[in-house]
Amino acid sequence: MTHSTKPALDVLPIPAFRDNYLWLIHDGVHAAVVDPGDAKPILAALRTHQLKLTAILLTHHHADHIGGVEELLQHYPVPVYGPTNESIACVTLPVGEGKQIAVPGLALQLAVLDVPGHTMGHIAYLRAGDEAAPGWLFCGDTLFAGGCGRLFEGTPAQMISSLGKLAALPDDTQVYCAHEYTLSNLRFARAVEPDNLALQERVKVETDKREHDLPTIPSTIGLERATNPFLRYREPAIAEQLLRTGKLERIDTPLATFTALRLWKNEF
Ligand code: ZN
Ligand code: FE
Repeated sequence: MTHSTKPALDVLPIPAFRDNYLWLIHDGVHAAVVDPGDAKPILAALRTHQLKLTAILLTHHHADHIGGVEELLQHYPVPVYGPTNESIACVTLPVGEGKQIAVPGLALQLAVLDVPGHTMGHIAYLRAGDEAAPGWLFCGDTLFAGGCGRLFEGTPAQMISSLGKLAALPDDTQVYCAHEYTLSNLRFARAVEPDNLALQERVKVETDKREHDLPTIPSTIGLERATNPFLRYREPAIAEQLLRTGKLERIDTPLATFTALRLWKNEF
């Protein structure tokens, strides 16, 4: 028999704005929050669950991810981790690729990954999986369930490399992205890959969750690899579909396919 001595960690989705999830990681006593765009729902959740905030983790500089930090700091003067390559005034501990974080207050180690594309300095946080539990990935607006973030600052080549890093994680890695965009992403994915059976099945499952007001997040890397066109752009059927629908003039490099796919999604 095996007994875990570590306090069990849980991840709570805190809905905010129209479709954001702020992620609260806690052990029943202490909590860390990822991308608190708004302080109010976080303060309410801390009160409800009787938790003390011990750390703030930011993935990128957009207001819907950092807007609540100042107010949280007034209640809890905690360290604020954030990307080295972005200037965010409230960040006290800038971190980048290769950095290991021992999250204050929690038995939690997070590795930092550089994932530029949506913004130039965007980072993700990864708790490595082990025999006892799958890994956790907090990827902000880089990889979404069924999609990926818009390229506001980076290039398609950067996004390909960032998504490739995430796609290489173990299949059971839980993907905690920052927005509930899943159904609209899957509508697009279906236009791209109408014959993908795993995708058709996923549409049913996720639609059912939304009809019952449940989050579709976390997803898993395995499910994304099977259904997300932005991880599947190397599939010949995708380039052929882009050609058929006039989004691509001729079959070219995977980079050209990815670029055309992202442009199509922007106007979809
Ligand atoms: Zn963003
Ligand atoms: Fe966002």
